[in-house]
Amino acid sequence: MSYLVDSHLHVTMMSYQGLQAMAEGGIKKAITCAIVLGAQHAESYFDHFRQITGFYKKNADGLGIKLYSTIGVHPAGIPHDWPRVIDALPDFLKIEGVVGLGEVGMNQGSQLERDVLKAQFEVARDHKLPIIVHTPFENRLPITELTLNIAAQANIPPHLLIIDHVNLDILDMVNQFGAMPAITIRSRNVTTEALYENMEQFQHGMLNCDFSNLFPNDPTAVIKAYQYLKSRGVSETIIENITCKKAEKIFNI
Ligand SMILES: [Zn+2]
Repeated sequence: MSYLVDSHLHVTMMSYQGLQAMAEGGIKKAITCAIVLGAQHAESYFDHFRQITGFYKKNADGLGIKLYSTIGVHPAGIPHDWPRVIDALPDFLKIEGVVGLGEVGMNQGSQLERDVLKAQFEVARDHKLPIIVHTPFENRLPITELTLNIAAQANIPPHLLIIDHVNLDILDMVNQFGAMPAITIRSRNVTTEALYENMEQFQHGMLNCDFSNLFPNDPTAVIKAYQYLKSRGVSETIIENITCKKAEKIFNI
C-alpha cells in the first residue's frame, strides 16, 4: 500500500488527535467540505472558506496530510443572503487547494434548498468542477430522486456529480445517473462489515469518514475499512480504487 485518501470530512470539527490518527494510519490526502451550522450571514461562509484553505490546511501539512477543500453552502446552514455566497464562489474557487464544491444538498427538499442546490450545480457546471452532494438520513429515496432531477436540469455532467452517504437503497439510482457514489463509513451509514458483504455493489464508489462532532464518527474509518477489506482478501485493485484512486481522479489531486 502506498497511502489512503479520505474524500469527505469537516476539519474544523476535528480534534488534533483525530487528524494525527489519520496521518499515522496512512491518510496522505483528504478533502475537507464546507459546513457552517445555522449560518445567518454570507460572511460566516467567507471566513470558513478562509479557515479551511488557510489555517487548517497548513496545520494538516505539518502532520503530512495534504488537505484539499470543497466550498459551498451546506443545507444545515443556509444564510438569509445566500446568493452572495454563490456570487463569491468563483473567486474562492481560484484559491490553491480548492478542488470543487461541497458539501451541498438537501434535507427536506424545500423550495429554498432546491434553489440553493440548483445555483451551486450551475457554478460547478460552469467551472467544470466536481460537486459533493449530501443525502439525508430520512426520506432518502425522494430526496435523492429530486437531487438527480435538479442536477439534470442544471445540465451538470454526471461524472462531476458525487452523491454522498450512499447506501444500497440509492446506489442503483446513483449508478444509473452516471454519478460517483461516495460511501461514508460509520455506524449510521455503511459499516466496514456491510461494505465487505456488499463489495460487488460498492466497488465503484469512494470512501470517506465524513467526520463531524454531531453524532458518533470515527476519523480513522477509512483506515479501518482498508485494513478490514485487506484481511478478508478483497482484491488490491478494488481496495486501492475505493480508498485512493477514485478520489484522486475525480478531484484531480
Ligand atoms: Zn459532511
